[in-house]
Amino acid sequence: MRVFDTHTDIWYDVSLKKEKGNNDVLRTYHLPRLKSSGVCGINAAVWTNPRIQDPMNRFFQMLGARSEQITLMNHEDFVFAHKIDQIDKALEDEKIAVISSIEGLIGIGKNIDFIITLYELGFRIMSLSWNEVNDLATGCGCDDNSRGLADLGKEAIKIMEKLGVVFDVSHLSEKSFWDAMKIVQKPVIATHSNAFSLCPVPRNLKDEQIKAIADCGGLIGISALPQIVDREHPTVEKVVDHIDYVARLVGVEHICLGFDFSDYLVTDPSLKNTIAKNKEATEGLEDVTKVPVLINSLKKRGFSEKDIEKISWLNFLNFLHNGVLN
Ligand SMILES: [Zn+2]
Repeated sequence: MRVFDTHTDIWYDVSLKKEKGNNDVLRTYHLPRLKSSGVCGINAAVWTNPRIQDPMNRFFQMLGARSEQITLMNHEDFVFAHKIDQIDKALEDEKIAVISSIEGLIGIGKNIDFIITLYELGFRIMSLSWNEVNDLATGCGCDDNSRGLADLGKEAIKIMEKLGVVFDVSHLSEKSFWDAMKIVQKPVIATHSNAFSLCPVPRNLKDEQIKAIADCGGLIGISALPQIVDREHPTVEKVVDHIDYVARLVGVEHICLGFDFSDYLVTDPSLKNTIAKNKEATEGLEDVTKVPVLINSLKKRGFSEKDIEKISWLNFLNFLHNGVLN
């Protein structure tokens, strides 16, 4: 079964390991693992960690590492897909389609015109904030419930929509989310978020948010990240619970899979508070090689083959086809 992962932090891993002298991590480490699970495409985010000393520097490191890994080194196996026909061609050629995204625009500071430059570089999905408060938006890590989008963030969304960049609402504070939904004209995606009703943490989406995303024709990418699957005992069955819950709420047509596997990131000390404290990965869905376990669990739970196909890759592809991506 084909799988399109709507959120991975592979570039972060690639840039960290490159710093340590491993220059071919995408081909030697990630490629066989992705292939073993039928992954036909990834939405690979350039994530700027706001907690490190110089986020902008990391941002540029990752931009460079991403280009090097694919343009110079791995063009036989991966292909940048900036347009819908490039995705179709990659699937046909059995290469891994790589959609480029930005997770949190803190790296551009107040320079929202740089969104246009990022578009020119091929970035097609962007979010405004990771968990932090930045010049554009308030992320879900902020305790002040009254803080939402900044005016610059609203401008940023308008620029994205004009260009044909998909707006990713994962990681926004609830107020930022609703501020954004008041102004969006196109379908949005939450590339990696689960249901708040099953796991009540600020990273997850409340029922009304899930409904609003579905109402605008958008998608929710269900994630395997343990801290948003379950606070006590995250398991693959609980990931299925999230899928089942969202399916019952808005229909399977609005679900995709944004795993956010972080098994390869635990070595980074700056991520201690976000990842390392969750020593236990989601049981049964610890990394990308376990995706077939999830597919089997969905079957056992009674999801039809057709619905599993929709969830695992078709919905995302259709979403991009339906005019969201130029
Ligand atoms: Zn994330």
